[in-house]
Amino acid sequence: MKALRLNDRLELVSDASVPRRYGESLVAVTAAGICNTDLEIVKGYAGFLGIPGHEFVGVVAESPDASLEGKRVVGEINAGCGLCDLCAAGDPRHCSTRTVLGIKDRDGAFAEFLSLPSRNLIEVPKSITNEQAVFVEPLAAALGIRERVELDANSKIAVIGDGKLAQLIVRALVPSGCQLTMIGKHQEKLDLARGIAAGFILVNDTFIQRSAAGEVTLLNWGEERFDIVIEASGSETGLPLAIEIVKPRGVIVLKSTYHKGTLLYSAKLVVNEISLIGSRCGRFKPAIDLLASGSLDLSALISARFSLDDGLAAFEAARQSASLKVIIDVR
Ligand SMILES: [Zn+2]
Ligand SMILES: [Zn+2]
Repeated sequence: MKALRLNDRLELVSDASVPRRYGESLVAVTAAGICNTDLEIVKGYAGFLGIPGHEFVGVVAESPDASLEGKRVVGEINAGCGLCDLCAAGDPRHCSTRTVLGIKDRDGAFAEFLSLPSRNLIEVPKSITNEQAVFVEPLAAALGIRERVELDANSKIAVIGDGKLAQLIVRALVPSGCQLTMIGKHQEKLDLARGIAAGFILVNDTFIQRSAAGEVTLLNWGEERFDIVIEASGSETGLPLAIEIVKPRGVIVLKSTYHKGTLLYSAKLVVNEISLIGSRCGRFKPAIDLLASGSLDLSALISARFSLDDGLAAFEAARQSASLKVIIDVR
């Protein structure tokens, strides 16, 4: 089958074998989205080799569960062992022997077919288009923040980043009624969240000065501080900025998978008693419900669509700083 495969570099191949894993469903991929994690994977994040891609919608081609065949589905990306306590409780996201679609020991969605356990697949309601369904995974990851931190209408929240994940996060948090400020480097991307976030701060690299020891000074920032700061910029300066602008005893939620380390001036975390929380995948059901409600218009977040044959050009487009979601139409 055709696929984008990562060895020492990403290549378009036509000889990838159709993935068949015992007891799993085979899904014919309709469309797949490129996310920053994929761009980081191509740069070496997670040491993954094989077919990347974890945001998809497709149709079940073959399944041990005949009732699934022909169904239009999305799929949770963590495939657990099915036996440990976490898997038995129905949440394989931290199963120690999990594989992860297109990220860890399991070929992913930039291909004509992918394989996932049937229990990972969720039928997509008719009211959700294929284009919207590609956003279920990243929207679930955005909503997953609410599993990790409590927020309400009194929470003053900053989202660092103006890219595709940050755009989904501000949209996912609106129903909580919290006060949202988006902090980014691109005016045209900040503008996409007008009417959604309440405040906007345009920054550039000169806002943040760092000493050799990693100590940060903010220039021209003023007094504004936040209860919760969500780092979703994918940038090396995101976390140092978050540490500076969170209130004492505030919370920083880290969403970016940044493939290099980041220099952390940790004394400030101690002195200001700041909580640092990681957040990765969310469950799909809340994301599907939110999309099915019709309250989200995500079309402005799609920068470009490419065929699988033009998959390398799709990655090139996704790497441009002006770009948001790039979708690969597989069939
Ligand atoms: Zn992703
Ligand atoms: Zn398990």
